[in-house]
Amino acid sequence: MNNTDDINKKLREEAIKAHLNAYSPYSHAKIGCALITDKGIIYSGCNVENGSYGATVCAERIAIFKAVSCGERKITKLYVYSKDGWPPCGMCRQVIREFTNDNAEVIIGNERGEESVYTVGQIYPLSFGPSHLGI
Ligand code: ZN
Repeated sequence: MNNTDDINKKLREEAIKAHLNAYSPYSHAKIGCALITDKGIIYSGCNVENGSYGATVCAERIAIFKAVSCGERKITKLYVYSKDGWPPCGMCRQVIREFTNDNAEVIIGNERGEESVYTVGQIYPLSFGPSHLGI
């Protein structure tokens, strides 16, 4: 996949598929995330809640950790899908920052087909990242 529109369409499809698997008996919120790496591989994830609440993990971090656990280190674009188009939380933005650069895209989509496109630099300005630690 080289065409940007094709990649975005595929990421949306994968994020929508993933959100159907959300484990969210407490909030009933269903979120899906799909990302593509610099190698062109797509990973996806859904939110997984926990009765302790604090052990809940968002869809974005699930997708990123799946990618990293498969050996990936660089994410070029993420698509986050939910009914109302919720943006990534602060904790996810920090994790997104770890494996992207400021120009990586974050697309937020909702069930009405509306999409907003941001860069990581826009949604997480002045972020602390690996470069501060010399990496
Ligand atoms: Zn989050």
